[in-house]
Amino acid sequence: MPNYIVPVFIDWSLYPSFTPAELACRDSGLLQFHPGFLASLQSLRDAFGRPMVPTSGCRSRAYNDRPRAQGGVGGHPRSLHVADDPVHADKGQLGCLAVDIRTPDAAWRGDLFACAWRMGWSVGWGRGFLHLDRRDFIGLAKTSFDY
Ligand SMILES: [Zn+2]
Repeated sequence: MPNYIVPVFIDWSLYPSFTPAELACRDSGLLQFHPGFLASLQSLRDAFGRPMVPTSGCRSRAYNDRPRAQGGVGGHPRSLHVADDPVHADKGQLGCLAVDIRTPDAAWRGDLFACAWRMGWSVGWGRGFLHLDRRDFIGLAKTSFDY
């Protein structure tokens, strides 16, 4: 059966700490999130209590897979950022389940990690950013990893 992606209206007033521009695919403008993802992101932001600057949110398959040298992300083929061709469609993934957040310094990064981890997020430790995802929403175990 084909995987149908149905555009869903997003009421951004529910997520006042984030804008469509900073979470949209940098290439296609795509905004398609798994149900509950944005609410979870806003809850994390509220609990953390400090501004969080996304460096990557929603991605099209084409943008994620295109090499960096060609203007793409060069992302992992099984990236949870990919919204239009979710790798876990078989588990009910309906859109983006991940966001990367810029980390200004080590202590800030540790604080965000602690808060996100406590709230059920999986966390990837990147250079200058933390990758945060809600893989648990589709039944995958919470984890933490390095790039
Ligand atoms: Zn990421």
